[in-house]
Amino acid sequence: MAGAVAGPEIERLVQLLARLPGLGPRSARRAALHLIKKRDALMAPLATALQVAIDKIEVCSTCGNIDSQNPCTVCTDPRRDSSIIVVVADVADLWALERASATNGRYHVLGATLSPLDGVGPEDLTIDTLVKRAHDPGVTEIILALNATVDGQTTAHYVTDLLQDANVKVTRLAHGVPVGGELDYLDEGTLSAAMRQRTLF
Ligand code: ZN
Repeated sequence: MAGAVAGPEIERLVQLLARLPGLGPRSARRAALHLIKKRDALMAPLATALQVAIDKIEVCSTCGNIDSQNPCTVCTDPRRDSSIIVVVADVADLWALERASATNGRYHVLGATLSPLDGVGPEDLTIDTLVKRAHDPGVTEIILALNATVDGQTTAHYVTDLLQDANVKVTRLAHGVPVGGELDYLDEGTLSAAMRQRTLF
């Protein structure tokens, strides 16, 4: 059996890096080596940035986004349309929609999707605060931007039922042909959803 090639400090760095999503042990080792070689240019600034993140980053008490201010930048931006709340499962989804400049509305991060098999129930999601926000007279539309998976759609139905009493329009993202997609490669479910949700040309 091969022994350790580096001291415990470096092994610890590699082990921690290997826990990051998308990094296996091999790429973690490569990343660690890269950081060590770029000690001044990369490792020190990274350590500082991580420490600042530890001190400053918190969860927005309004929408559940993570930011260095609370309420977050999106919630406090006066140019945002406060009549629209876009419901997402995770902060990563919020960031994806922001990258695409897909909406000018505000957000609500549920924290997960309902998944009875994994033991994720309504009490694990921020549904109560969403319902409360939806009853604000200034809010007119709730857009459910949830995954097109069984769990995502179960969550969408559950949330929609709870929003019955709020005076809001509940909409969801269209399902269909992806931009740049070829029909021949699409699965039957996507194709039939695209056909049902066709729009006027
Ligand atoms: Zn916020």
